[in-house]
Amino acid sequence: MSRKRILVTGGAGFLGSHLCERLLNDGHDVICLDNFFTGSKENVVHLINNPYFELVRHDVISPFFAEVDEIYNLACPASPIHYQYNPIKTVKTSVMGAINMLGLAKRVKAKILQASTSEVYGDPQVHPQTEEYWGHVNPIGLRSCYDEGKRCAETLFVNYRYQNNVRIKIIRIFNTYGPRMSINDGRVVSNFIMQALNNEDITVYGDGSQTRSFQYVDDLVEGMIRMMGTNDDITGPFNLGNPKEFTILDLAEKVIRLTGSKSKIVFKELPSDDPIQRQPRIDLAKQHLNNWEPTVQLEEGLTKTIEYFTKFKNK
Ligand code: NAD
Ligand code: UDP
Repeated sequence: MSRKRILVTGGAGFLGSHLCERLLNDGHDVICLDNFFTGSKENVVHLINNPYFELVRHDVISPFFAEVDEIYNLACPASPIHYQYNPIKTVKTSVMGAINMLGLAKRVKAKILQASTSEVYGDPQVHPQTEEYWGHVNPIGLRSCYDEGKRCAETLFVNYRYQNNVRIKIIRIFNTYGPRMSINDGRVVSNFIMQALNNEDITVYGDGSQTRSFQYVDDLVEGMIRMMGTNDDITGPFNLGNPKEFTILDLAEKVIRLTGSKSKIVFKELPSDDPIQRQPRIDLAKQHLNNWEPTVQLEEGLTKTIEYFTKFKNK
């Protein structure tokens, strides 16, 4: 196998750090670019001594130049509290980040993969979600900075392909969890695990009947790498997620059981525009990505994630 030069934007984040690690293990030369808004050096500190790893502090809203063969564009805060903290910046990161990275891909003739999201479907009226569904997004709601930013990024990707022949790949990632999620980013898996480990109340928003389909990080990374390896005529978008659907209440109960916690479940107000249901159809990914499908089911993945979070207990 030849050593490729690969740029990972958002590489010091939760998903990016796992991707960098896997690419290095596969024998590639990796540039990890990050502005450390939600990511941290901690996530990649174990990679720093690898001579094939470079860490660059840079914000994707400014152009960046490097001779690379492939670009994985992950830079963007992913948790609702972080992307809503500075919504204008979130839009800039998605849109200007996509323009800058696509411009780079065009210039150096690199392949480029966009980490899009199930949020492009908004609060979906089609269930489960297939790639042909156009979505149901409130363009002026609390989540719009993220959802519409990601939708616009998809638009940019397909148009750089039509106009400039850039070799693009788009994946729509459904809720993914695992070690190195930030302990305080407010996402449901990290919140519930930390609350359970500290025997604090588990905060279920709404009545907990809303659903999500949770994918373990290793399954996603495998899917991303297979997607990048497809022929140039395969662009996606493809859903990458675990099709097993759970209610948020199911998740709370599982976390309590797996941690042996004394926590009680309490119910809090449901944030506005919170999607009621989410479940991917993954037929396209299976068909085009060499029978890709998730192999780690929720209890196994939660057990590994709980083990990681244990070190942050009572902090
Ligand atoms: P994360 O917040 O841990 O990682 C995002 C990384 O991007 C962080 O390291 C952050 O510092 C960096 N970043 C943010 N803005 C930047 C900017 N302007 N310039 C440079 N770096 C910047 O989140 P994650 O879960 O690892 O998500 C990674 C990507 O995957 C995001 O694009 C996200 O939208 C997408 N995604 C994630 C999920 C999920 O469930 N984890 C689901 C759908 C899509
Ligand atoms: N949620 C919850 N309690 C929490 C955090 C989140 O009940 O402490 C709910 C949230 O309202 C949503 C689901 O869990 O219905 C998933 O939330 P998350 O922020 O992880 O992801 P997203 O809503 O973007 O899928």
